[in-house]
Amino acid sequence: MKPFIMPSSNPTAAHATVVDPDGSVRPLDKYDAPLLLANKGQRRFHIMAKPIGPACNLDCSYCYYLAKATLPDGSRSGRISDETLDLFIRQYIEAVTGGEVVFSWQGGEPTLLGVDFFRRVVELEKKYAKPNQIVQNDLQTNGTLLDEEWCRFLKENRFLVGLSIDGPREIHDQCRFAKNGESTFDMVLNAARLLKRHGIPFNTLTCISRYNARRPLDIYRFLRREIGSTNMQFIPIVEYRDFERTAPQTWDAATFPKQGDAGARPGHPESIVTDWSVDPEDWGYFLCKTFDEWRNKDLGKAYVNHFETLVAQRLGLPSQMCVYSEICGKGLAIEHDGTLYACDHYVYPEYRIGSIRSGKLSDIVLSRAQVKFGYAKSETLPRQCRECSFLKDCWDECPKNRIIGAADGEPGLNYLCSGFKRFFAHALPEVERIVANIRKRGVQPQARM
Ligand code: SF4
Ligand code: SF4
Repeated sequence: MKPFIMPSSNPTAAHATVVDPDGSVRPLDKYDAPLLLANKGQRRFHIMAKPIGPACNLDCSYCYYLAKATLPDGSRSGRISDETLDLFIRQYIEAVTGGEVVFSWQGGEPTLLGVDFFRRVVELEKKYAKPNQIVQNDLQTNGTLLDEEWCRFLKENRFLVGLSIDGPREIHDQCRFAKNGESTFDMVLNAARLLKRHGIPFNTLTCISRYNARRPLDIYRFLRREIGSTNMQFIPIVEYRDFERTAPQTWDAATFPKQGDAGARPGHPESIVTDWSVDPEDWGYFLCKTFDEWRNKDLGKAYVNHFETLVAQRLGLPSQMCVYSEICGKGLAIEHDGTLYACDHYVYPEYRIGSIRSGKLSDIVLSRAQVKFGYAKSETLPRQCRECSFLKDCWDECPKNRIIGAADGEPGLNYLCSGFKRFFAHALPEVERIVANIRKRGVQPQARM
């Protein structure tokens, strides 16, 4: 049952009140608005589907998802049932307003489900699509199982592929190996060639860890020249040292190191992060170097998530990445058993917000708990961020990375803060020139989610 607004018996009452499902009455506030106004405006949100849970044929050292298989009280391993798949596709299509609905298939490794599973997905999408609605599919894959049959299917059904690749052979093989510990590089390279040969659009997704962050140009040039990527997503690896068991924001903040302490960097016995997490200074170095390369050679030719977002925000457009936006909570995850979680990085029992098997997807997505989750991103900023000149570019990035204390000891500062400051200080003068140029030409870049 949803909360509902109680009609006021006193026409002069300043505030409307809300009756919650448990019968309690409280004043209406901003966290109620999305659900109560759901039928009056556009509902924009996105769901990342995990149809095979954390199952994967690789054993990448930094994977944050493999551990979900053993998380107590979690969704564990499993494959989505026909019934749950049908329910998800129907409810998601129903819930999204506007002309386009995007399904993102992730894992684990979704290609383990086989091509026939995705044929069924496409059938169901066609069955439930609203008139004139475009249904788009994204598939995030390690690429190792892609073959001719897969590529024919992906091309025919216009899938956009995200290919995980960390750089040239010696860099890629540092963290991304098969279950038997063997190299996966040749298989991924083969996948990139197949995708290109079949004319399937793909993004590269490259994880930046402690081991490759000092090699920005080797990585960037490899992705551009060898792989031919025109859409590069760089993801900094930051994992709290007990990330397998401890949900974000349930940490003991008293144990946080302060910015600049040895424990606020990887590789220290007392470090707050795993050994493979990227060093904050190296993250800044990586962004600065790749930004210069992109600016000098690829502006307008290749898309890099962090750079395009910075330009968009300086143009006054919404952030294209949730991590740099003021409010988040519009990108949820659904597990194979139909359980919805607040975000792909919050797949822990504490952030389970409902199930499509017992509730309606649109009500769960717009629920007060989820809206509060999204607002918390900017409502819990430490003073150091509130007073930071880069606040509107950064917003303390993702809350899952707020695992250190600020200089004054206040907890909740982003582990990557020093890297961001270095990057913003370096890139912004040039970004402002790019923005001025765009304004002069009257070009408006496409807003992306
Ligand atoms: S928690 Fe982090 S990854 Fe998740 S939606 Fe918010 S900013 Fe994005
Ligand atoms: S750069 Fe650092 S201080 Fe500034 S908003 Fe980001 S995390 Fe906060």
